[in-house]
Amino acid sequence: MRIAVIGAGAAGLAALRHCTSGTYDDQVVCYEKTDQIGGTWVYREETGSDRYGLPIHTSMYKSLRTNLPKEVMGYPDYSISERPQSYLSRMEILDFLNAYCDHFTLRPYIRLLHHVELIEPAVGDRKWSVKVKDLQRDVLMTESFDVVMVCNGHYFEPNMPKISGQNLFVGEQIHSHDYRVPEIFNGKNVVVLGAGPSGMDLALEISKNANRVILSHHIKETILTVFPENVVQKADVVELTEREAVFADGTKEQVDVVFHCTGYKYSFPFLAKSCGVRVDSNMVTPLWKHLVSIENPTLAFVGLPFYVCAFSMFDLQVRFILRHWHGERQFPARADMLRDEAEEMARRAERGLKKKHFHMMGPEQGHYYDDLANTAGVTSLPPVLAKLHNASSQRFVDDLVHYREDRYRIIDDYNFIQL
Ligand SMILES: Cc1cc2nc3c(=O)[nH]c(=O)nc-3n(C[C@H](O)[C@H](O)[C@H](O)COP(=O)(O)OP(=O)(O)OC[C@H]3O[C@@H](n4cnc5c(N)ncnc54)[C@H](O)[C@@H]3O)c2cc1C
Repeated sequence: MRIAVIGAGAAGLAALRHCTSGTYDDQVVCYEKTDQIGGTWVYREETGSDRYGLPIHTSMYKSLRTNLPKEVMGYPDYSISERPQSYLSRMEILDFLNAYCDHFTLRPYIRLLHHVELIEPAVGDRKWSVKVKDLQRDVLMTESFDVVMVCNGHYFEPNMPKISGQNLFVGEQIHSHDYRVPEIFNGKNVVVLGAGPSGMDLALEISKNANRVILSHHIKETILTVFPENVVQKADVVELTEREAVFADGTKEQVDVVFHCTGYKYSFPFLAKSCGVRVDSNMVTPLWKHLVSIENPTLAFVGLPFYVCAFSMFDLQVRFILRHWHGERQFPARADMLRDEAEEMARRAERGLKKKHFHMMGPEQGHYYDDLANTAGVTSLPPVLAKLHNASSQRFVDDLVHYREDRYRIIDDYNFIQL
């Protein structure tokens, strides 16, 4: 089987690790458009476009520390080594990914500075045609593959909801994708839009530099975190004027900067329409188990679910796909896969979740891991991962200022302790 892996971030590396394990006689090529492995964990000062005119992929900022403890951030067969803290710096995660890459000797399969421009069903013997540009040599080539694993990440295409009057606003507007250092906010009045993980974290981070930070959101639950005095919480911004933000409760504030922490959109700019997968209100569809293209099951998307133990989930998803691609498990009929997806949609809608939440796991993640494992007949992830993920995420909400001082130890497949 000839396998293409698109992207050499944490997901692409997990894909390569299993495709090259020697169990099967596969040929694998991984295309990575940047000059390094590690994906979003590779910090770059520059924003906008790179020297090849491609959009900068990473959304990492300089001071970032993980928002999950290292105990849930390793791979099933390669954990993050023992060290005093649970919450690590971005450099430590990048070092870890490089160590993983070397441990499993993955580099020979990775073609750096190769940008995948187009994937479409092939006409010849193989299923997929992949058009890729060697950026250094400025040469375009087309290669054929039997199967494709798309591992291009989903934190690079900013989601910028439209706000009335946005064009009238004379101050600055920036999305968290382009945020690197807090000094750009020195002495400014900043309205941060959105209280997801980035909005919360960044409101706190920039409060040391900004004059005043207004965290604008529509979260109904009370956020227990006690923010510094110059951070206030307000309702959604409904309108921008030349210099003011108007909030849903009718109040107004003079602001210098609108900081959009409004999340990201799934994006597959290289997928031809004929691949049979589309993004509909930020739900990638039609997919079986958030992973396999129902129209063409030789095409898979690793890493779509969010609020998960990412690296371990990538590993499990890859093992799931390979069991099917190698014929140890059969894909259900198309109609059954479509029904599965529709039923999950309906279950989520009953809980008030919208299409854009379709790939959100959080408390659901353990069920998802077990379902993948049971379906494919592979080992699931230990329940303690989901348990610790959910507990530490709650600590994030309850005590944003101090939660990174928490230290954990996993003691068995079911239990962890806080040190
Ligand atoms: C600011 C921030 C903080 C985060 N913090 C945490 C955390 O604390 N803990 C946690 O578990 N997760 C965190 N995450 C989530 C993080 O995205 C995942 O942990 C994980 O790194 C995603 O890996 P990935 O391989 O799916 O995607 P990415 O890391 O985005 O890698 C995708 C790769 O594909 C390449 N690529 C894209 N398009 C093409 C193309 N056309 N051709 C060739 N190559 C291409 C990119 O260059 C990139 O290298 C954070 C994310 C962000 C943005």
